[in-house]
Amino acid sequence: MATRKTLEDWQAAAKSLKVPQQALINGTLQAAQSGATFECISPIDGHCLAQVASCDQPDADLAVSNARTTFESGIWSALAPAQRKTILLRLADLMEAHRDELALLETLDMGKPIRFSLSVDVNSATRAIRWSAEAVDKIYDEIAPTAPNEIGMITREPVGVVAAIVPWNFPLMMACWKLGPALAAGNSVILKPSEKSPLSAIRLGQLALEAGLPPGVLNVLPGFGHTVGKALALHMDVDTLVFTGSTQVAKQLMVYAGQSNMKRVWLEAGGKSPNIIFADAPDLDAAADAAAQAVAFNQGEVCTAGTRLLIEASIKDEFIQRVAKALKTWQPGHPLDPATTCGAIVDETQLDRIIQYIEAGQQEGAQLICGGAQVLKDSGGLFIEPTIFDQVDNQMSIAQEEIFGPVLSVIPFKTMEEAIAIANDTIYGLAAAVWTADISKAHKTAKALRAGSVWINHYDGGDMTAPFGGFKQSGNGRDKSLHAFDKYTELKTTWLTL
Ligand code: NAD
Repeated sequence: MATRKTLEDWQAAAKSLKVPQQALINGTLQAAQSGATFECISPIDGHCLAQVASCDQPDADLAVSNARTTFESGIWSALAPAQRKTILLRLADLMEAHRDELALLETLDMGKPIRFSLSVDVNSATRAIRWSAEAVDKIYDEIAPTAPNEIGMITREPVGVVAAIVPWNFPLMMACWKLGPALAAGNSVILKPSEKSPLSAIRLGQLALEAGLPPGVLNVLPGFGHTVGKALALHMDVDTLVFTGSTQVAKQLMVYAGQSNMKRVWLEAGGKSPNIIFADAPDLDAAADAAAQAVAFNQGEVCTAGTRLLIEASIKDEFIQRVAKALKTWQPGHPLDPATTCGAIVDETQLDRIIQYIEAGQQEGAQLICGGAQVLKDSGGLFIEPTIFDQVDNQMSIAQEEIFGPVLSVIPFKTMEEAIAIANDTIYGLAAAVWTADISKAHKTAKALRAGSVWINHYDGGDMTAPFGGFKQSGNGRDKSLHAFDKYTELKTTWLTL
């Protein structure tokens, strides 16, 4: 169902929008027990959207204890998979019915263009719930190949209480990549959205109740990482912690798990993905358009952003010009304008971080080709131009560190072996792309790349049917596809001698 709203329509909708601001514990919207709140500021124009409950350890304790009771009651965990499916499909229907509202919350809260909140975030989030729901009554357990006098049953059980800590760049979508399989498998979940984008998660929790999810199965605790996030990660009664966010925090969560109850920890972390363009790429214009989108989509605030553009030296200068031209269609604009492709940066801290990296690139000797400036300051919002650096050495900070903004580093190479070596010379291993018309070279390169996803002659492909996650310090485990269920279930062997 296409939404044909104008900027003015969206602005009017924003004025009358009911902004959720409380925690959801055991089916009840409530303030944090301390009464503390934090300001939720829109990066579009700096206005305060809501005073949101700032949860902490007592709220985590309450939510975990309710989640545990709910799990053990069997009200959700012991339902037949087909019954859980019915309720989760109802949730997906409700998300679809509320798609404009959810998209608006997402755009106001973190600044992304409304067109993508609708077409990417809400759509993919809904699909994640629907796909996981539809899968759960089609997954069978196993019987081991035993001697005739034995039966070895290998079954999967829900892990119990799951804490899901998610980031701000795709708030609803990252939450639903976790919630889909976690809930479908029968677990009780505590969702902690980022303090920079808490709104859509709270609304989702309300919709889940409306869909018939029993109270206490999905709890939502807005608040900061070092308060409620840490309390969940250190909690002795959380069985599994799933996380999407930075590598730095991911490492800390492994420490917390070791310091507490050895909860299972599944991490989706950062990236610095190489996009390799060979001179024989089948369509250089298409490759340039994709390279521009790979760094500017979602303002570059994407874990898989193609921030290292490795170009075969013989076409480097010409190809950079094509990318610079393509980036003209990714200039910042009002996020509620349906024509806008590049929105606002999530907050001032993130904007400062991007500006500092742009300065560092120049100081380290890279050549600024285009962009680099903060723009639209009069709006009161936080906007930055997509930026290209040429003459980048892979050891520079702009090539090694995750900027999480629309900053592209161009690195030339002469041979396939050199391209692979540069591409793999990073602590990350989330994604990579290779562009060539030579099928053998494409496969050789794809095989040699140490990354969880490799795209050939396009950028950022995939859907719910394929696993997503990282090698190396980009994380462990996988979101999406049937493989995601591994994170939310324990294997049990029941052995019987006849
Ligand atoms: P972040 O690590 O700062 O925060 C992520 C979440 O962790 C937030 O909810 C935050 O409150 C919480 N947190 C922070 N400190 C914590 C602590 N000590 N204990 C418990 N929780 C804590 O990340 P971010 O800035 O929100 O998101 C950007 C990062 O996310 C980037 O590195 C990006 O690459 C990564 N990301 C990865 C994927 C993926 O699938 N691999 C997808 C999207 C984003």
